Amino acid sequence: MDHLVDYSFPSCEHVEGDAIKVYVRVRPPSEGTALTDGDQGLCLSVLSTNTIRLHSKPEPKIFTFDYVANMETTQESVFSSVAKSIVESCMNGYNGTIFAYGQTGSGKTFTMMGPSDSDNFTHSLRGVIPRSFEYLFFLIEREKEKAGGGKSFLCKCSFIEIYNEQIFDLLDSASAGLFLREHIKKGVFVDGAVEQVLSSAAEAYQVLTMGWRNRRVASTSMNRESSRSHAVFTITVESMEKNNEIVNIRSSLLNLVDLAGSERQKDTHTEGLRLKVSSVTSGGGFLSDMLSCPIPERESARFCSLLFLGSG
Ligand code: ADP
Ligand code: MG
Repeated sequence: MDHLVDYSFPSCEHVEGDAIKVYVRVRPPSEGTALTDGDQGLCLSVLSTNTIRLHSKPEPKIFTFDYVANMETTQESVFSSVAKSIVESCMNGYNGTIFAYGQTGSGKTFTMMGPSDSDNFTHSLRGVIPRSFEYLFFLIEREKEKAGGGKSFLCKCSFIEIYNEQIFDLLDSASAGLFLREHIKKGVFVDGAVEQVLSSAAEAYQVLTMGWRNRRVASTSMNRESSRSHAVFTITVESMEKNNEIVNIRSSLLNLVDLAGSERQKDTHTEGLRLKVSSVTSGGGFLSDMLSCPIPERESARFCSLLFLGSG
């Protein structure tokens, strides 16, 4: 028997608060630069969970963010405040993106992945990406149990790298460069990127590890520098629920991004080009001021709409 299919797309009006939140994490100084005089040698102080004071001259400046993590804030706590609600929203059919922005060495990969390349999934210091996998599949199992077999989920992932105007598929190291395309229903997407089905967090780790390794191999053999590339891991979560004669299908994306270093790329011809975030996001004015990434002008707006799909 045919079922009615109800593709429900929640509207952004139902999202609580702002669609874009900005968090700041203050990392501890590197080893060997330990401070002996308390906060005196630091360029900033954390005043509260959402304000910092920059010790600028002649006047100090105070900045307010949605949340400030200080040097003692744990990976677990960063995950809870930054990512948990985005993963939950993804389960409810909203698209979400988490990325870390900052100079090379500021702790983006530490925050998103963890302290080392090899053991980022069992390590107590594992980052936002592995924790998001764990939480997503925990929520999926819980939903399935609650629905008593009436609800099923399909998770797929892709993993791409954007380096110097080109898009590479980290799940298919043999593939040539890929292109962004625009589809009337899907919006902006990477054409031809491999999609791998995921059924557990462990599988997600495996795929991520494989792609990460490809990224490193490519960076050595192709003379690419990974601090200059963006790595985008996208999970598509599709749920199907039968309600008498009606089938409800929901689909959402979760983009987990290890962004290139924000320093200017002096010796590439992409120097100074800025992400045009403001054109695709509501709170973009602030972000576009902040972001200066090596993404070609003509691609940048589309790249942003890829990452910010449904959030603006
Ligand atoms: P990025 O990806 O921004 O270039 P990394 O994440 O590689 O920077 O961080 C540079 C170094 O600093 C790494 O050795 C990392 O383990 C360490 N590090 C970064 N942030 C923290 C932190 N919050 N606590 C402890 N070590 C950190
Ligand atoms: Mg890094």
